[in-house]
This record gives sequence, structure tokens and C-alpha cells, in this order.
Amino acid sequence: MNATPHEWYLFLDDLKKQVQEHEFNTWLRPLSFVSKEDGLLKIGTPAPFYKQWVTDNYLPLIEKAGNERFGALSGIDIVVIEEESGSTALPAEPAAATPVEVSAPAAAKQLGALDPRYTFDRFVVGKANEFAHAASFAVANNPGQTYNPLFIYGGVGLGKTHLLHAIGHLVREKNPAMKVCYIDAEKFTNEMISSMRHQRGGMQDFKSKYRGVDMLLMDDVQFIAGKEQTQEEFFHTFNALYSHQRQIVVTSDKLSNEIPDLEKRIQSRFEWGLVADIGAPDLETKVAILNRKAETDRIPLPQEVAFFLSSTIQTNNIRDLEGALNKLGAHSSLMKKTITVELAREVFASLLNQTPKEVQPEAVLKAVAELHGVKVSDLKSDRKHKVIVTPRQIAMYLLRQMTPLSFPDIGARFGGKDHTTVMHAVKKIEQKMKDDVSLKNMVDSLRKSLEG
Ligand code: ADP
Ligand code: MG
Repeated sequence: MNATPHEWYLFLDDLKKQVQEHEFNTWLRPLSFVSKEDGLLKIGTPAPFYKQWVTDNYLPLIEKAGNERFGALSGIDIVVIEEESGSTALPAEPAAATPVEVSAPAAAKQLGALDPRYTFDRFVVGKANEFAHAASFAVANNPGQTYNPLFIYGGVGLGKTHLLHAIGHLVREKNPAMKVCYIDAEKFTNEMISSMRHQRGGMQDFKSKYRGVDMLLMDDVQFIAGKEQTQEEFFHTFNALYSHQRQIVVTSDKLSNEIPDLEKRIQSRFEWGLVADIGAPDLETKVAILNRKAETDRIPLPQEVAFFLSSTIQTNNIRDLEGALNKLGAHSSLMKKTITVELAREVFASLLNQTPKEVQPEAVLKAVAELHGVKVSDLKSDRKHKVIVTPRQIAMYLLRQMTPLSFPDIGARFGGKDHTTVMHAVKKIEQKMKDDVSLKNMVDSLRKSLEG
């Protein structure tokens, strides 16, 4: 018994509905029907890399859709089918099937569009981002000369992409002849894969494209972790650029040594240059960002409403903050109401009821000290006794988790300790909690009691 091409297309279409379009195009569209015997469905992939990825990420989905489309299957076997050069893995498309378009290999000349809104002009500098901002500005003014690579890391929505684009804008403006390439690590990965499979010489084009730029701005580099060939390719790209003093800037949601499955050799290269952290914005910065955005979007935002939003919307993600302002702006113009604290209260009523209590840093120190039978002043001291070191690290960890304080801010609250000490403490506790259940329980209950 076999699946007809039509059935196979319907099956692909079932899959298509369940994943994002780019995922489908990259990973599922290249699948081909091999055979179906005794309930065993054999599916072909173009290369070992695909086989691995599809198996790791899509097997349950394929099983479910396969059982629904072809009747109960005894199993699914994903195999590698070597492509004959020039052909694609897709069988000819029957007229009745849903179109599954075959896209051309990624355009080789596109070097990444920059968002016109993400400029230095529009970037509000506050305590938590001033270092990353200064480093970015320095690099944009002296590419390849000061800090190479520049590694910017921080949580979601804190302005990493904004800074990366800002560097690109400034460099292009100052030196239009420079080939500046902005690329998202996910796009880089997808593009590499499509070069690998679509074209003879595609991979060569891909390599020369990235190795030939004057500046590489790679966003969300944590995405390449665990992807062997992408890391390999990135590694060589990095080396080629670095050896020619071409500037490399990458962003990541974590420190490089905290990215799971990131190859050591890449991790170490990220540490060659300058590492800059963007922390959570403080209240003043949030207000300033809201004001700036309100101005640009011509939303009349009174100062007290800016403060109200900044303190009420419990998020460090600036995108959420911007979203709140947009929502308020839309509400005001649709309802023809002036923007006031009252209106904001109305619009965000549901949020207000679930706002968690703000945690005072001193309360965290006090709670940790009490639980361990030590003094708050011990936590702030330089004493290295284990009895004190562990609670000190726990307190640092909780402050990082529960307050918007940056690493340097936290260090300052512990008798002026260096931010690297705090970073180390946070990492240490995170690691320990993975193996030590009683520690994890203790930290969790401290957190709960502090949240009230
Ligand atoms: P990330 O890449 O860190 O997730 P983004 O750079 O995408 O964050 O920032 C999210 C949004 O917040 C963007 O619209 C960006 O313009 C805005 N934003 C972030 N930081 C600032 C800042 N310091 N000043 C002005 N806007 C900011
Ligand atoms: Mg980003």
C-alpha cells in the first residue's frame, strides 16, 4: 500500500498548518515520501543534518499528522535521500494539491535592512544600558579599532536589537562604502541551510557573502547554539572577519558561557573583546522612554501618566511598555477622552488587580540573613566564610530575580562589590539549584514569602 502524491501533499499541508511558515519552508517542505509498507512510513530528508533536526524537533508532530492522514501507522522512519544534482526533493505537484511554493535560494546580495526607528537618537540612555550604549557608540565610530568583538547581552525587550541597528545606521551614514551586514542568527541559519541544499556553489556564495563584509552585526546569536554546521560556519566567518580587523557585534539573551550547547571555541571568541550587559530599566528610564515614544508618535502624555504606567506595568520589557502606551493612545483617540491617570486606570484595570508587590532590596537581605542566622552586615562584609558566602550569594541571586537592580547596583548594596562577583554569585546559585533540591526549595519559599 502506498500514499498517492496527492495524499502526500495533503499530509504536508496538515503539517504546514501547525508550524510557522518559515519553519515549514525550511524543515518540512523538503521532506519526501519514500514508502509505506506494513504501516511503516518512510520519509526522506535531503541531508543528515535535516534528518537529525527533523527527528529532534518534528517527529511527534509528524507521527500525529501521519496517523491522522494515513491511518494507524506502526512507525515512522526518517531517512536521508541523496539528491541528484539539480532536482529537488519535491515530487511534481498535482493540480488539486495545495500549492507549496518553492522559494529561490536566499538572495545573495541582501545585507540586512535596518529599522529606521532604531537609531542612537531614539535610544534613551539610563543606568542599566549606558555601558552597552557607550560601547556601541564607540564601536560605530571606530569599527574594528576599539572593541572587537562587542558582545551585548540582556533579557528580552531591553534594547539589544535597537542598539545593533543603531550601530549599523551610524556606520552606513558615516561611511556609505562600508558593507555592513545585519543578520538575525535564525536567518543566518536558515539561509545557510537553503544554500546547502538548493544550489551548486550555493554554499560557496554563502561563505563569501558573509566573509566579505566589513562589519557583521548578528542578532540573537544564542540561536546558533546546538546547531553544529551553523556554528562551524559562524566560527570560520568570525575568524575571517576578525583577522582582517572587521568589526563584529553580536547580541545574545545570555552571557556566552551561559548559552547551553554553544561550542567552547565560539564562546571563548566572544570573550576576546568587550562584553556589555543591558539590565532592566529603572523607573526614570522607563518614564524617559515613554516620553520619547509619546513625542515621536504624537501621543499627548502627561508626566504623571508616564510615571503611572512605568510603575504600574510590571515589566522590564520595553516593548510591553510601548505596547501599553499604544493601547492607551488608541483608547484615548477612539473614545475621544484625554489621557489621564484615571483613563489609564480604566484601561489597565485588569492589570492593576494582579500587580505583584514591589520587593524592597533591604527586605530581601533581611529575610535571607534571618533564615541563615547571620547578620545583614555579614552579608555586606567581605568575610569569606562558607556560612556567610552562601547566604550572600542567595541574596544576590534573589535581588537579581526580584528587583530591577543591575549587577553593579547589586554589588553596590553589598559593600561595593564588583559586578563580576554578583554575576558569579547568580550563576553559582542557578547552577546549585539544579542539583540541590533543598536549596531550590529554600530559595523558592524565600521568594514566595517576599512576594507576600
Ligand atoms: P531586544 O532586542 O533586547 O529584545 P529591542 O531592541 O527589540 O529589544 O527593544 C524593544 C523595543 O523597545 C524596541 O521598540 C526598542 O526601540 C525599544 N527600546 C528598548 N530600549 C530602548 C531605549 N533605551 N530607548 C528607547 N527605546 C528603547
Ligand atoms: Mg532583539
